[in-house]
Amino acid sequence: MLKHKILEAWQNRWDDVNETRGRFTHHIFPTVQTNRCIVDRYLIQAVTNHGLCPYYLKRFNLHDCNCRCGEDSQDGIHHFLFWCPLTQHPRKFLKPGMDIVQAISDPRGTKEIRTILSFVYQRQMDLFEDIG
Ligand SMILES: [Zn+2]
Repeated sequence: MLKHKILEAWQNRWDDVNETRGRFTHHIFPTVQTNRCIVDRYLIQAVTNHGLCPYYLKRFNLHDCNCRCGEDSQDGIHHFLFWCPLTQHPRKFLKPGMDIVQAISDPRGTKEIRTILSFVYQRQMDLFEDIG
């Protein structure tokens, strides 16, 4: 009964409409679970949008930049995983508009996520352009 009450309280906090933090991840995982554990740094970036991308760099005032492709003003992690023409070369399984839960649940998706985000990390000077 206590476990149920704790999960219920956690779910209520997670669903709080006044909360502004974690909304990207809430959209992906609306229900709290004690058995979900993502430890891979690239997969964590994919489900939190916290990682090396112009969206994150601008949000935390680290670097005023955009993706050089110019196709997305948000330039979040999913831009590079699913949409960006500059990171399309390793993309075979991941498709524009694909559900991220489906992507991280398939070994082909996790492999491509790691490959693409590693590429973004290695080539960030080529992919990001200053706007400030
Ligand atoms: Zn791009």
